[in-house]
Amino acid sequence: MVKSQKIKQVASDAIAFLEVLDAVGVVLDADNQVIDQSSLAVQMGLVEYGKLTSADLINLVDEARTNRQSIKKELNFSKNLRSVKQVISARATLLSEELVIVLVEDVTEAKRLEDTRKDFVENISHELKTPISAISLLTEALQVAVDDPEQLTKFAKSLQRESKRLGSLVSKIIELSRIQAGDLKGEIEVCDLSQLVIEAVDLSQFLADSRGVKINFDASSDISVMGDASLLTMAIKNLIENAVLYSESSSQVGIGLITDGEFAEIQVIDNGIGISVDQQERIFERFYRVDPSRSRDTGGTGLGLSIVKHAANNHGGEVTVFSRVGVGSTFTLRLPIQKEQSDERPE
Ligand code: ADP
Repeated sequence: MVKSQKIKQVASDAIAFLEVLDAVGVVLDADNQVIDQSSLAVQMGLVEYGKLTSADLINLVDEARTNRQSIKKELNFSKNLRSVKQVISARATLLSEELVIVLVEDVTEAKRLEDTRKDFVENISHELKTPISAISLLTEALQVAVDDPEQLTKFAKSLQRESKRLGSLVSKIIELSRIQAGDLKGEIEVCDLSQLVIEAVDLSQFLADSRGVKINFDASSDISVMGDASLLTMAIKNLIENAVLYSESSSQVGIGLITDGEFAEIQVIDNGIGISVDQQERIFERFYRVDPSRSRDTGGTGLGLSIVKHAANNHGGEVTVFSRVGVGSTFTLRLPIQKEQSDERPE
């Protein structure tokens, strides 16, 4: 066999093997010209005009040639300037004197999950430290104030507040990590949204009464979605509680339930303090609070909206906000409407 034919054969054998494994690979000759590539490599856009499109991948190949050994690296990759950036794990290995095979794995999602997890753990540790050290200081103070009933009552009250805060933080962290893992708690069932809103209002009623806020909801619409009723109720409750907490006492909170095409919209409207545009982008992040000192008073954890966002995402929906400082906020939870059974089943 002529040398060039032999090279082509080795390359196509290697690629045929990768195709069986559904793997992404490219074989290059001594001039870094692509001899063969797997179909997934084409889909990913690794090759154009017979060359690797990524300068980082070409460098990896050169490094493998120079060092005469297999080199593996995590690299950023995007098909072109406009497409989404991916993180890839790439390995360049010498197949022969001239031939190098580049194996690529898209690890974007794994990397994102890993970063999210790291971030989450760091945030949690930080957030738990505050009430834990407060509790520890307060118990010391209690011991010192044992003969002073007034001080004793004061410290005991603070201790109760901090432990309540710790409890709510822990339960919200558990809820959030469960939702983030995509683990819907209950059955996926047909949920009557009016019913869920009524339940969420019920759960928020005590808080609203204690702050003299009136909640208005006209439960006349008949809209259903498919979902986890307890999770959706929790998400709606979080929105209502925020509307109550960030409003003046004796104000009103309105809840609307409407349809918009294929989506149902639950709107929670308040005339409270509002949120500036630059903060609106951040409030759905975990542990983010616009005013941490006010949040301490309201017992805020910065997790409520993050839970709403993940619950919405898990149901194929979204949550959006429209707000003006000093005027008020409207949070809208959009969820895909449950189609009639007859629509789902072809005749
Ligand atoms: P928190 O437990 O602190 O309320 P959330 O995740 O529910 O945490 O909300 C994040 C931040 O968004 C809050 O700290 C608050 O600053 C702001 N926010 C949420 N809802 C409202 C609202 N209805 N009006 C004004 N600010 C709000």
